Amino acid sequence: MENKIKLNGTKIKIENPDLLDTLDIYAQYDAEGDNHILTGIDTPMKKNAFDVDDETKIKGIEYHFREIMELLGLDLTDDSLKGTPYRVAKMYVKEIFSGLNPANRPDVKLFDNKYRYNEMLVEKDISFYSNCEHHFVPIIGKAHVAYISSGKVIGLSKLNRIVQYYARRPQVQERLTIQIANEIKAAVHSEHVAVLIEATHLCVSSRGVQDVSSSTVTSYYSGKFEQESTRMEFLKYAGK
Ligand SMILES: [Zn+2]
Repeated sequence: MENKIKLNGTKIKIENPDLLDTLDIYAQYDAEGDNHILTGIDTPMKKNAFDVDDETKIKGIEYHFREIMELLGLDLTDDSLKGTPYRVAKMYVKEIFSGLNPANRPDVKLFDNKYRYNEMLVEKDISFYSNCEHHFVPIIGKAHVAYISSGKVIGLSKLNRIVQYYARRPQVQERLTIQIANEIKAAVHSEHVAVLIEATHLCVSSRGVQDVSSSTVTSYYSGKFEQESTRMEFLKYAGK
């Protein structure tokens, strides 16, 4: 029996049925990655994700990243490369994926501000760097966020910090948008929240279809922002 499967557009003849299963799964993985499937609002995490401390994680990732580099055929005795596994591991845990750890969630203090009751607060052009959870390459974007105060306000830099916290995870842009919106709602005790994100995905521009000019826009509107006039006001402030 001859089995054929389409993998990355190439037909390959497969004789071993076990291998066929694997290639079937790989073809499915390719398709899911290119379609950037979102499975849920919460970042999928293991229950015991924080049973190990950062230092242990860095050591483990350093070890495994060295294995990846070895498999790629790189000479890890070279002075330029020998520190890379450690640098990557530290960067993953302490910087670009530090938003996985609830300990790094920004503390938000609320202030009473009667004068700003019912007023729209917009923080626009918040730049962020995230990483696509399907390919582990960067997502570079800007977030525009707004809320209508229920009498409580937070420092504007906190809106920035909320965006950065959720960006520093393996992400899907739709999830990032919703996570930021939910966090702002909870932080300011208001249902009236808007989040607009424009981002470039390096997994689209630097590989795959290699489209360098496209960007992806996602938005979330709740409460008064579901009304067109309020949404238009927000978009005007955001420069859209
Ligand atoms: Zn991707």
